[in-house]
Amino acid sequence: MSSGRRGDRGGGGGDRGGGGGGDEDMYDEGEGVTITTSKGVRAVKSFDDMGLREDLLRGIYSYGFEKPSAIQQRAMLPICQGRDVIAQAQSGTGKSSLIAMIICQRVDIKLREVQALVLSPTRELAQQTEKLVLAIGDFMNIQAHACVGGHSIAEDIRKLDHGVHCVSGTPGRVNDMCQRQKLRTRATKMLVLDEADEMLNMNFQEQIYNCYRYLPPDCQVVVVSATLPQEVLQITQQFMTDPVRILVKRDELTLEGIKQFFVGVEREEWKFDTLCDLYDTLTITQAVIFCNTKRKVDWLTEKMRQNNFTVSSMHGDMPQKEREAIMGEFRGGSTRVLITTDVWARGLDVQQVSLVINYDLPNNRELYIHRIGRSGRFGRKGVAINFVKSDDVKILRDIEQYYATQIDEMPLNVAELI
Ligand code: ADP
Ligand code: MG
Repeated sequence: MSSGRRGDRGGGGGDRGGGGGGDEDMYDEGEGVTITTSKGVRAVKSFDDMGLREDLLRGIYSYGFEKPSAIQQRAMLPICQGRDVIAQAQSGTGKSSLIAMIICQRVDIKLREVQALVLSPTRELAQQTEKLVLAIGDFMNIQAHACVGGHSIAEDIRKLDHGVHCVSGTPGRVNDMCQRQKLRTRATKMLVLDEADEMLNMNFQEQIYNCYRYLPPDCQVVVVSATLPQEVLQITQQFMTDPVRILVKRDELTLEGIKQFFVGVEREEWKFDTLCDLYDTLTITQAVIFCNTKRKVDWLTEKMRQNNFTVSSMHGDMPQKEREAIMGEFRGGSTRVLITTDVWARGLDVQQVSLVINYDLPNNRELYIHRIGRSGRFGRKGVAINFVKSDDVKILRDIEQYYATQIDEMPLNVAELI
């Protein structure tokens, strides 16, 4: 795939690729990935050289990070300098972790007011980011709160009144808290949209603008995602000022570490038997199975259980308590096979997931990248298997072409690749 690009794996200092022309710089990251950045963006190869606070550095290292990833090397500095930043990088390469680190760096601990607001498309992702901020900022004693639907409003209010530095939330609940003047934004200096293209799509856009209206005019804005289609980049112009851009071309978005396959199933009814045949493979480590509707998730879960397979399942119509219990079990590894909807497509990080099954092909190209990106986290190996009915072949070929990637027929020894 990387033919013609300069492979400069791990080479210190010499990672400037050919000139980007105009106002762009290009970097060859090895593995055939070229990163396009605004002019002047430098890669800082060590956390030590980023000018971070001591207590944050301790937090980063004790969390287990040793070296910044490519996106962290480039985005950390401009964000810490207060610039608006658009940061794109492949799934699992440390974007959400970057968010947690910059928040810790940017807040003034002495000031118990909401200084950083992160918005995410799902409750589970908002909670994951809250936990990450708390973990990485442990030595600085940062106070963070997940402001998400499905939880007691009174408890949110209590937490916010107590005073937190960072709120990580979903747009609905955050808006509600702003409206009630319980989430006070006078000291908010940074808005971050994780999974930004999802946050700026039709469903969320209005809520995001509502949140934005509560923020001080000089508030810094950072948007982050693995997928940033042109329309979304265009929309960002409405609320970002001269942003620093760090972008990846779409034909380099799929990860080398994630092998992609298809199984031809001809008809819908064949999918179930195919899945049963794969069950032993699913449980080698952990697996996520995607269906396109909540009903289908319920149906498939029931049917697998009737056939004596152990599976868990999660979707957005379940009570929040149950969602959280299921997440907890899956994160802890006590359940290994999770059947779910696109509520799980973005951002959720369970390192043990090494297999993703698209029981149904996703409804758009972006979702494909995010779904398969639940495996192969931070350079780990991953396998994605697509169940393809005869009339789905076109969709699969479209995905393949759009991302300039290869999706082969599933080999018999697929278990050996996991
Ligand atoms: P993304 O948001 O790009 O999908 P995450 O921030 O969720 O990626 O990170 C993916 C995984 O990689 C997580 O398990 C995280 O702990 C780990 N990770 C992130 N940055 C680093 C780093 N610099 N060193 C080691 N592991 C990292
Ligand atoms: Mg993320």
